Amino acid sequence: MEEKISNLGELGEFGLIKHLTRDFPLSQASSIKGIGDDAAVLEFLSGRTVVSSDMLVEGIHFDLSYAPPQHLGYKAVAVNLSDIYAMNARPTQITVNIAVSNRFGIEYLDKIYEGIRHACEVYEVDLVGGDTTSSYSGLILSITAIGEVDETKITERSGAKDNDLLVVSGDLGGAYIGLQVLEREKSVFQANPDEQPDLSAYQYPIQRQLKPEARKDIPELLEKLGVLPSSMIDISDGLSSEALHLSDSSNLGVRIYEDKIPIDPAVIKACEEFKLSATTIALNGGEDYELLFTIPLEDHDKIKGNPHFSVIGHMTEAARGRMLVARDGAEVPLQAQGWNALSNDNDSPQQD
Ligand code: ADP
Ligand code: MG
Repeated sequence: MEEKISNLGELGEFGLIKHLTRDFPLSQASSIKGIGDDAAVLEFLSGRTVVSSDMLVEGIHFDLSYAPPQHLGYKAVAVNLSDIYAMNARPTQITVNIAVSNRFGIEYLDKIYEGIRHACEVYEVDLVGGDTTSSYSGLILSITAIGEVDETKITERSGAKDNDLLVVSGDLGGAYIGLQVLEREKSVFQANPDEQPDLSAYQYPIQRQLKPEARKDIPELLEKLGVLPSSMIDISDGLSSEALHLSDSSNLGVRIYEDKIPIDPAVIKACEEFKLSATTIALNGGEDYELLFTIPLEDHDKIKGNPHFSVIGHMTEAARGRMLVARDGAEVPLQAQGWNALSNDNDSPQQD
């Protein structure tokens, strides 16, 4: 599109919607009608439909001074799709609700939609609708994701059994320590705008924070390996909190072994620099968007040695409690600290 309009007021609501959503072709068979009517029309011929929403609020979930708008759009989609994958489902459509103030130019919103479009391509989902409104203060991005799954393959939080193995994909703690790096660089920059930070050593954790990926590959891989998790959840608030969710929903205890928690060497190095315990960050940091799931003991051989998976513990009878087994063998109760408890100042945002 050639038109160059940087003032949202000039464009008007309908012009803006038309502009932002102009380039979103439909690719899913279940998308009958997308943007342009009062509602989208979908058709699912079999199986179950799953629906999940997440909201990202400026100043709470992101800081525009270091979150590039393309990444923000991408992340908003990815974190929603992560919830769909956690149900062992395949996402098919999203809707996008956005509230903006007129301090944002159209170019800025274009970049957010560039990120959204990129995520739609990577994860093979159709943008089929949304809503656009103005906001006096911050930017709000709320996304709803829709997906499909065979009825027999849904992985709920409540399905874990006693003695099941607790498994996590990828590695943990990167997103939180990446945020610490970004916050530090922001304050350095504010003190001395001429300083050019060298962030090359922190590339991995920063990418985990700014442009996380949802684990589309994990449900596919598990299917290929012939493993159906008995329960599953995605890690948005930290390993500890999510393990407690599985434990609560399944009415079981859980044991996590500290030495089995997967943490990338670059994350360990950054934690040392910040004088933070890498285990604490992995347990409570959050925003890693890995999948945490349980499998029956008999399936261990099917995932053993696979670089995408780490067996970090197992489920127990409820009476045995929910414990972290430290490297020295000491057992410490798992706590759902989440983001808030990690920060020193009381007015720091609560992530959800
Ligand atoms: P209504 O007045 O019925 O809510 P709108 O004018 O808000 O309709 O929206 C017109 C069409 O554009 C609808 O298909 C809606 O889903 C879509 N839409 C509106 N805002 C967005 C957005 N931010 N992203 C994607 N689609 C949107
Ligand atoms: Mg509307």
